[in-house]
Amino acid sequence: MVIIRRRSSSRPARIPTSRKPSDIITHCGPGEMPGPHRSRPSSPLTRVSFAATLANLVGYRPSEGEAWMSAATREYPASVSVVVVGGGVTGTSVAWQLARRGIDVALFEQEHLAWGASGRNGGQTGVEANYGSGIIPHRLRSLEIFREAERELGEFEYDQCGRLRLWLGEPGEHPIPDPTRPEADEYALGDEILTGDEARERLPLLSERVIAARWVPTSGRLWPFKLVHRFAEGATRHGARIYNGATVERLVAADGRVQGVVVDGQMVRAQWVVNAANAWAGPLADTAGLKLPVMPWRGQIVVTESVRPMLPFTMGHFVHRSSNYWQQTRDGKFVIGGSRVLDTVGRDNLHDRSVSPDILQKTLSMLVAALPALRDVRIVRAWGGTMGFTPDGNPYIGETELRRGLLLACGFSGSGLSWAPVAGELLAQIVAGEPLSLSLDPIHPDRETGQLADGEVA
Ligand SMILES: Cc1cc2nc3c(=O)[nH]c(=O)nc-3n(C[C@H](O)[C@H](O)[C@H](O)COP(=O)(O)OP(=O)(O)OC[C@H]3O[C@@H](n4cnc5c(N)ncnc54)[C@H](O)[C@@H]3O)c2cc1C
Repeated sequence: MVIIRRRSSSRPARIPTSRKPSDIITHCGPGEMPGPHRSRPSSPLTRVSFAATLANLVGYRPSEGEAWMSAATREYPASVSVVVVGGGVTGTSVAWQLARRGIDVALFEQEHLAWGASGRNGGQTGVEANYGSGIIPHRLRSLEIFREAERELGEFEYDQCGRLRLWLGEPGEHPIPDPTRPEADEYALGDEILTGDEARERLPLLSERVIAARWVPTSGRLWPFKLVHRFAEGATRHGARIYNGATVERLVAADGRVQGVVVDGQMVRAQWVVNAANAWAGPLADTAGLKLPVMPWRGQIVVTESVRPMLPFTMGHFVHRSSNYWQQTRDGKFVIGGSRVLDTVGRDNLHDRSVSPDILQKTLSMLVAALPALRDVRIVRAWGGTMGFTPDGNPYIGETELRRGLLLACGFSGSGLSWAPVAGELLAQIVAGEPLSLSLDPIHPDRETGQLADGEVA
């Protein structure tokens, strides 16, 4: 029998559906705001000091004092080579890759580093994403860059521990055939299809409802908040300027070319502007009259109390057009996400980070269906975050002909951790005029299925 350590046997593991989302959150950690859910951005000063508190949690000390000043007292540079909009894993990766090539870069983040999806995700990494669309080499390159970055910048707990993807059903039911295996085989990723019994041999805790599984050895996990701060620190070490609490109000474009940005009322000229604003990428592009079909979706994460080590790899299971996924962190907590398809968000509430008890309940019920031993484990916190999806599921990485000088690094469609490193490298190669290490074809903003178009200036 599996015994799960509990702080109290009287509280049920289930999320009480009658409570408001803010009541559910009993702890706060990196990537979350303390207290109840906020629906509007805080003042610049609050943002800056809270960012500093979060930075202390991961031992990160900003090397450039200027970056942490109040927006009210700050003067931005009149011109730089590259402006990066967005202080998540993508923006900081781009800034690091540019700065280490000696390119002058300023990054503007409206809240604080890792405030967006990068500080609110499930921490899972890997090649597995939109198989069959020509992106495996790009995702593999990102995994290599994780290792290079840990050597150059310091660790962020990257662990290629593998992932077991489950099919759940009733015993005796035939699993849905896996259409993605041929491409995985072509790249010798080492994926294996397992029967339910074979999966249970690897993890005896699995329930009889697991009818098949795919073992994915290229998958893994990392600590996202720390990754963002490692990239940021690496960038500032090479001279990049990073501004928190700095909102890019609009792109400035003329004659089909982006010429800079307006940040908190100040014009900053640039040869290149990188849109790394994730869920906000569409509204930002609107300001230059570019229709960028990045659809915002909200995801939710729920975290349990610490329990004894059970899971040596990450896990997930297939659901139609979505997935649920979980991992056990080094300190024993389960970090669980999923049910995204149920959980869309509109352009008018991109800051919404609330949680919905019905969605968390559904996600947890899937976890317990696979791992019944977790039935009574307690939930200690939950949060939401927004991310951008594209029509064909591949991101936009590169310059669009519709607005010269505008580099896109967005639309990561729910799995941006393993896109950010290669996006940073490719954009830096474009700016530096270096040969590209990989083809942009499947991810180019102007690909036919990308559906970019001219529009009205917002
Ligand atoms: C609940 C959840 C779970 C997830 N789980 C995983 C996972 O396990 N693995 C995985 O790979 N991916 C996961 N993702 C997706 C992943 O988090 C994102 O793809 C990734 O973090 C995108 O990084 P980013 O830097 O592009 O965007 P973000 O981290 O969202 O950064 C964009 C930043 O731009 C800033 N910004 C926007 N507009 C402006 C402006 N006008 N001026 C200045 N700043 C601006 C925002 O404040 C934000 O901080 C998950 C996402 C969520 C929400």
